[in-house]
Amino acid sequence: MIVPFLDMRSMLAPDDQLIREALWRVVDRGVFILGEEVTAFEKEFRDYLFPKGEGEVVAVNSGTDAIKLSLLAAGIGPGDEVITVPNTAIPTAAAICSVGAVPVFCDIDAQTWTLDPESLRDCLSSRTRAVVPVHLYGTPCVMDAIECFAREHGLIIVEDVAQAAGAWWDGRACGTLGNFGAFSFYPTKNLGALGDAGAIAVRDPGLAEKLRWLRNYGQSDRYHAQLHRGENSRMDEMQAAVLRVRLKRLEQILRDRRKRAKLYRTLLSEFAPVSLQQHPAASRVAPHLFVIAIDSVVKGRDEVVAQLASKGVQALIHYPLPLTHQPAFAGSKCHCPVAEKVCNSILSLPFYETIPEHHIEYVVECIREVL
Ligand SMILES: *Cc1c(COP(=O)(O)O)cnc(C)c1O
Repeated sequence: MIVPFLDMRSMLAPDDQLIREALWRVVDRGVFILGEEVTAFEKEFRDYLFPKGEGEVVAVNSGTDAIKLSLLAAGIGPGDEVITVPNTAIPTAAAICSVGAVPVFCDIDAQTWTLDPESLRDCLSSRTRAVVPVHLYGTPCVMDAIECFAREHGLIIVEDVAQAAGAWWDGRACGTLGNFGAFSFYPTKNLGALGDAGAIAVRDPGLAEKLRWLRNYGQSDRYHAQLHRGENSRMDEMQAAVLRVRLKRLEQILRDRRKRAKLYRTLLSEFAPVSLQQHPAASRVAPHLFVIAIDSVVKGRDEVVAQLASKGVQALIHYPLPLTHQPAFAGSKCHCPVAEKVCNSILSLPFYETIPEHHIEYVVECIREVL
């Protein structure tokens, strides 16, 4: 049996007809940049994230730019330090560096694999300006402790919510807890476009306006430049039209993903060589990846991945190398023993909202055999 890591076509199949109609609607209208689809998506996603209407959404062209523009809007730049975790996608740190700031890497919790608030204090300096917590694999960070620390030290919070659209923390949507929430709609994410796209959730209307200028060359309106620094980071109409279709089904997508994550969890429970990510109590998870940790005394992780591949199971690793070990970020300030240990033991199993249950059963069978 061949079990692919994911199957994009089967994920899109339920929306096939509506997506085709949405794309042709844009073509027939003939407006491709900053038109009514983007405006409508921003409103619909805002209503989803901020049911009480207390914030805004600014659509941009990627999750990376969502982080970058948030930092720019907050006035963060050269000489500033931004705390994040080493077990994240490279763009989290690339976005920090792109504004001229320096990433400082904080350790993670051994159970939740997300930012350990206890470790924040070790990263603090007189240059620290912001924290970028990452809701890894769709699991919310322990936000109350992070918010407390940020308030105490006057830091900006930019949530990296690229993997966690639809996750909630203590009754509020992830992405609306910090000053900014940076979403990615990369096709494989929980809420996926058919290309690059992203968005920023922001509570302060003044910052929302600044973000709208930043994404559009620094212009407030055509031919009026307000900002010295501007970017071209607009979400295009095609992606907005597709995302409006996908957003309507996001809750169903998440129910399907939770059901499948639960099946994996049940089948793997009480299997000693495997441990799973723990979810903090106040959270509603939006499962993006299904990641397991292998007890290295039983077998090395890379060997497990290779043996699964020989049985037709495609496992990946998110992420094989902590950012602190990447040449680009070598020499960064860090003390991350837990993150380094976790990075060496994890692997991601095939997981998407339409994965057949017999694939999950086969994957678990293979894992039990291999271990
Ligand atoms: C996908 C991802 C990003 C980057 O999003 P893009 O839309 O690809 O730019 C940033 N951070 C994390 C944690 C991600 O998973």
